[in-house]
Amino acid sequence: MNFAAPSLDHDRAQALFGQLVDEQLAPAEEQALRSHLDACADCQHELERYARTVTLVRSLERERAPAELAAQVMKRVRRRRRHLFGLQGGRFFEHVSMPAEVAVPVVLVAIAAAALIVLLLQ
Ligand SMILES: [Zn+2]
Repeated sequence: MNFAAPSLDHDRAQALFGQLVDEQLAPAEEQALRSHLDACADCQHELERYARTVTLVRSLERERAPAELAAQVMKRVRRRRRHLFGLQGGRFFEHVSMPAEVAVPVVLVAIAAAALIVLLLQ
């Protein structure tokens, strides 16, 4: 049986993304959100982006030795950066070198920031 789900505006719908991703929504809320999403391409897009960001951040939190991931993200960032700023930006980044003890925390913070920027630029 279909009861009329309370309709959500964009802000309200997007405010529920966190709970949706965490599967914390009550069934009625989830239904309301899903029916908004069915009809709203903007919010679908936002949810996709939100879910990707959450997934990425959580995978960073889980990874104790994210060297491989760091390399991948840096490669992406360099590509993006080159795209945005031309070759100079990419070269500059490659020439920055630091001892590993300094680089790892810096890289972790940079990855989180860069990942958000990359996602926001998409
Ligand atoms: Zn919407």
